[in-house]
Amino acid sequence: MTVYPNLLAPLDLGFTTLKNRVLMGSMHTGLEETRDWNRVAEFYAERARGEVGLMVTGGIGPNLEGSVLPGASMMTTAEDVANHSIVTQRVHDAGGKIAMQILHAGRYAYGPKCVAPSAIKSPISPFPPTELDEEGIEKQISDIVNAARLAQEAGYDGVEIMGSEGYFLNQFLVTHTNKREDRWGGSYENRMRLPIEVVRRTREAVGTDFIIIYRLSMIDLVPNGSTHDEVVQLAQEVEKAGATIINTGIGWHEARIPTIATSVPRAAFAWVTKKLMGKVSIPVITSNRINTPEVGEEVLATGCADMVSLARPMLADAHFVAKAMAGEGARIAPCIACNQACLDHTFGGKLTSCLVNPMACHETELVLEEAAQKKSVAIVGAGPAGLSTALAAAVRGHQVTLYDKSDEIGGQLNMAKQVPGKEEFWGLVDWYRTMVRDAEISLELGRAVTAEDLTGFDEVVIATGVSPRDPEIPGQDRDNVLSYIDVLRHKKPVGKSVAVIGAGGIGFDVSEYLLHEGVSPAEDLPTWMREWGVADPEEHRSGLAPEGPRPEAPAREVTLLQRKKQAHGKGLGKTTGWIHRATLKMKEVNFVGGVNYERIDDEGLHLSFGEARENPTVIKAETIVLCAGQVSDRSLADDLAAKGISCHVIGGADVAAELDAKRAINQGTRLAAQF
Ligand code: NAP
Ligand code: SF4
Repeated sequence: MTVYPNLLAPLDLGFTTLKNRVLMGSMHTGLEETRDWNRVAEFYAERARGEVGLMVTGGIGPNLEGSVLPGASMMTTAEDVANHSIVTQRVHDAGGKIAMQILHAGRYAYGPKCVAPSAIKSPISPFPPTELDEEGIEKQISDIVNAARLAQEAGYDGVEIMGSEGYFLNQFLVTHTNKREDRWGGSYENRMRLPIEVVRRTREAVGTDFIIIYRLSMIDLVPNGSTHDEVVQLAQEVEKAGATIINTGIGWHEARIPTIATSVPRAAFAWVTKKLMGKVSIPVITSNRINTPEVGEEVLATGCADMVSLARPMLADAHFVAKAMAGEGARIAPCIACNQACLDHTFGGKLTSCLVNPMACHETELVLEEAAQKKSVAIVGAGPAGLSTALAAAVRGHQVTLYDKSDEIGGQLNMAKQVPGKEEFWGLVDWYRTMVRDAEISLELGRAVTAEDLTGFDEVVIATGVSPRDPEIPGQDRDNVLSYIDVLRHKKPVGKSVAVIGAGGIGFDVSEYLLHEGVSPAEDLPTWMREWGVADPEEHRSGLAPEGPRPEAPAREVTLLQRKKQAHGKGLGKTTGWIHRATLKMKEVNFVGGVNYERIDDEGLHLSFGEARENPTVIKAETIVLCAGQVSDRSLADDLAAKGISCHVIGGADVAAELDAKRAINQGTRLAAQF
């Protein structure tokens, strides 16, 4: 008897049956654009082997003007059909099912040829769109239908028509972007004509036994978005027009409310999808921040949806469903919703992968094969770099001993997990603990090893991490000056007014930690909704609270300082930096840049500005926290070198400047793949 009876129940669609209620949601990975179709096929086949019920590909353009980027993958030619057939064949051979997402980006298309219902530029694209005329609209419909027909020819089990997230079809639905006065604009009946026409003609073209998923925006989170009644009306019309399944989308890309970041509570929008249950008779899928089988099961058991969509969690662990089926939920590598190797890569023009699982999207290139020669491997440091090396080496059959001077594994992850909005790091450390135990890695905690301890191993890996950089500010040895480690790890008391020195990732984290008291909004949905101004869409159009964000009062008065003149937080994640900046702004943080740190004394922190050290200022903070970056901790590596023992130095011990868990885990895994 499974503990996930709802999640693992089959879903009968009449002409075909999905083996469980887990959909792998569409993600733009950049794989299709590599034109290496074997690699694309392996990515999806690996997830099919992992038993996911149905997969949706990344968005495929129906034509040039609708493609997200120039050069993005399209489905328009016989050659496209042949390439995609490689994918569908491999997925079917692995026992899976796959639908192709047809994505027309409308005014979100990053190119000068983009088209839209009205010529209104989007705030997230530099290109003003051309308003379509009647003939132009007709062309878009027939191109979308043609892409669906070709997808069927390529062997897909269905298509997903992207109608949410503020893309083309969504742009027709709302007056925010549709100012037309013809039969495609004005009344709601006119504005929804395009999506319905697209579904109706697609069904006509593909016949009855082909899945059509319509991705519908449940809550737009932008001004002048749809009302809830309009959403329900559209869902019912889409069903009548021939859709097999309704998948739900949350928020437009231009919305200033986070919808999938790690600080968003788990399953934060399932209650919105629930409002559609019983209003249509086709299955309804819910999505966003569902990252464990327990959360998925709860969402289904409480009647929020018929199926759950997980996208990023399928990067973190391709075998999510297979492990749930085997009762091995604790062994599922958790997606921590950091976006660091997936969305940040996508928006940076890089191939997607996963911070937790560097094999994601590299299935054909980074393979952990059984080692021909089994070795003894010593790894010093049980942070992300050491842990990932240890697990990958153990998978390959090596005998691994993992040392750490601390009495717990996780290294800096243990500090990250203290920060409100970063609770997912608890799960990541728990997962490492489970995996280390199951892999029978010999774990030596509370042990500060010396070079002498490391003789006799075939391979020695130094992953000793970093130490805080000394900013050498006169007076920094006073009792009211703390390091970020004192605050996050040792929980030393901090006064009501604080100056944070250094505005990198850790300066932001420490500020968020100090600004907050009580239950984290990430673990309390009503507080989180108030904080970001999310309302019930049945009461307020588009789900926007009329009074806007209403954050809790800050627990402390924080001044965040940096020497650079540029805006604070420029180096934070591409897709998440704005959230950290907005959070601190909401909590009235005083951002001060371009400073020189002169001294700390009884008066407070003395600053001056510019090269001429002008405008002396005192920040009268009760506590000063040093977050001035880190330096590599290489002392053990140096001792080994002096003794002529060769070793591999990885993670922060290798390069502190760009220390982050993504680089550390990738480097560790790749090293172990080569022993
Ligand atoms: P960091 O990003 O390098 O930032 C260090 C900060 O200290 C900068 O603001 C720098 O700005 C300042 N600084 C550097 N040298 C200084 C000196 N001698 N005196 C005074 N200030 C100095 O390092 P971090 O904040 O420790 O974070 C380390 C890494 O952890 C990051 O690179 C990131 O990859 C990862 N991380 C990321 C996040 C996140 O994205 N949310 C959170 C935590 C950690 P100025 O030189 O302008 O003063
Ligand atoms: Fe999840 Fe982060 Fe991996 Fe993206 S990079 S899939 S958000 S863990």
